[in-house]
Amino acid sequence: MRNKLKIFRFFTVLLLMVVFSTGCAQSESEAMFEPGTYEGEAEGFGGPITAHVTVTENEITDIETEMPDETPSIGGGAAEEITSHVLESQNLDVEVVSGATSSSEGLIAAITAALEKAGADVESLKAGSDKEAEDNNLQEEIDVDVAVIGAGGAGMAAAIEAAENGKSVVILEKMPIVGGNTNFATGGMNASETTYQNEEGIEDSNETFYEDTLEGGHDLNDPELLQTLVENSADAVDWLNDMGAELTRVSLSGGATNPRIHTPADGSPVGPIIVKTLSDKLDELDVEIMLNTEAIGLVQESNKVVGVEAKDSKDNTFTVNAESVILTTGGFGANSEMVEEYRPDLEGFSTTNHAGATGDGISMALEVGAALTDIEEIQIHPTTDPESGYLFTEGLRGDGAILINTDGQRFTDELETRDVVSKNILDQPNGIAYLITNDDIRNDNASLDGYIENGYAVSADSIKELAEKLEIDPETLSDTLDKYQEAIESGNDEEFNRQHLDTSLENGAYYALQVTPGIHHTMGGVTIDTQTHVLDENGEIIEGLFAAGELTGGIHGANRIGGNAVTDIIVFGRIAGQNVSK
Ligand code: ADP
Repeated sequence: MRNKLKIFRFFTVLLLMVVFSTGCAQSESEAMFEPGTYEGEAEGFGGPITAHVTVTENEITDIETEMPDETPSIGGGAAEEITSHVLESQNLDVEVVSGATSSSEGLIAAITAALEKAGADVESLKAGSDKEAEDNNLQEEIDVDVAVIGAGGAGMAAAIEAAENGKSVVILEKMPIVGGNTNFATGGMNASETTYQNEEGIEDSNETFYEDTLEGGHDLNDPELLQTLVENSADAVDWLNDMGAELTRVSLSGGATNPRIHTPADGSPVGPIIVKTLSDKLDELDVEIMLNTEAIGLVQESNKVVGVEAKDSKDNTFTVNAESVILTTGGFGANSEMVEEYRPDLEGFSTTNHAGATGDGISMALEVGAALTDIEEIQIHPTTDPESGYLFTEGLRGDGAILINTDGQRFTDELETRDVVSKNILDQPNGIAYLITNDDIRNDNASLDGYIENGYAVSADSIKELAEKLEIDPETLSDTLDKYQEAIESGNDEEFNRQHLDTSLENGAYYALQVTPGIHHTMGGVTIDTQTHVLDENGEIIEGLFAAGELTGGIHGANRIGGNAVTDIIVFGRIAGQNVSK
């Protein structure tokens, strides 16, 4: 009996030991991380990205990021999206943010590196979890005074004006970040009779701005809309600068008689600065921007638009009831089907546009009877990267860059309007060309500095070295640059009649950017009046519906002058916001 008891005790102890040790082993294997804060680093779009990730044994509790070289409006939006996704889902099954691919990939890699250091099983974190299905809360119906569809430049400008006039405003934005194509505006903002022009002694007038734009637009521009654009341009620059945009440098741009493109002082791209300025102001005004929320249709009652049907990121549909709806969804450059429908000759062209530029606002407006103006007028931008569609600013040519073909010869007045320069490039062998720049231009133009740092440029210390790297006959290239130098010295470009021969390309180092035209701007769109009311086929106002920005037609005619898109979105965005407040 005693023996039996002993044996029983022995097995009980053994069992307890097994249970205990298994329990210990289990709780050890269940710990997903070694608690602490870990640092991971990876390359983003502009430079290194660092993530500081804090974990407990089983939870990722905090992620802080350092992204000093990323474009704030793009990288910042991506960072918010990605870190909140990782914290919510507790996994690494996270998609890159459209429009911010390199910044997203860099950040995900940095977080992954930090979690690896914390001892995480990265592969299983990448595989994700089933948590997605949870949390499927239905978005409730919303009542506001003003619903703005699209958080690009026009939408944000409209929302600011409406909110400042005391209206309750919500902005629906289908993408995970704000800014749309406005994020990618490179050059600057055209405006005439501005304080900044005066300060620099530049003589310009609203009439010349009007005439230049009409000539650039091949006389197709709607005269009243164009008049509204130029008359309000100076005030629009002041409005932005009063909010801190600092567009204080005035330069020359293609198609302009006088220097009138207003850019940041260091020549860096204008878009991210405008997006940041506007979104900071919206924050200050407490205007809600619903990201990942797509408008899918307008609600109409007795011929008046009274709201928007929308769906959230989980495809739950809901209604926004509004006294007025402002359409600011941008153009349709990224919708190849729509591009080909109106312009079959542009089949297969790459685009400079962000993925959300799919013409949704045009389709929604058509459903409630809106008329369209110049819908087939689509602009291709002359200087985009042949592989990625990345756009190189027109300001480079204004600042002195020339264009050569693959035979090493110039072939155009580089300061011609976009359509002419694009056509001239397409007429060259393989439809490509090189933008030739040097250190003098680089010193003046932060954008060029960025292109070089991001690997777009072929760099060389001498013309001979440049020719070799581009596989061009060195003598031909050298002749081309000699002739250009003669034109600079005599002030007369006999071959192509380029005006403004200010910057010599005599000294290196040299930088060449390979370029080809890409779909850039859709000039045509919804028909509006000067007060941004959307009009129907009979020219009658569709009650309750306003539109501004790239989705409208008529302002730019058959060709948009560089620097006029930003003027358009700010001038007409503001007018829309003011009118819904009346
Ligand atoms: P604009 O220059 O006219 O302001 P942008 O391209 O800068 O145009 O901005 C338009 C914005 O509208 C983009 O951020 C885009 O993602 C957003 N957008 C487009 N279609 C929809 C939609 N159906 N619902 C919500 N937002 C949309």
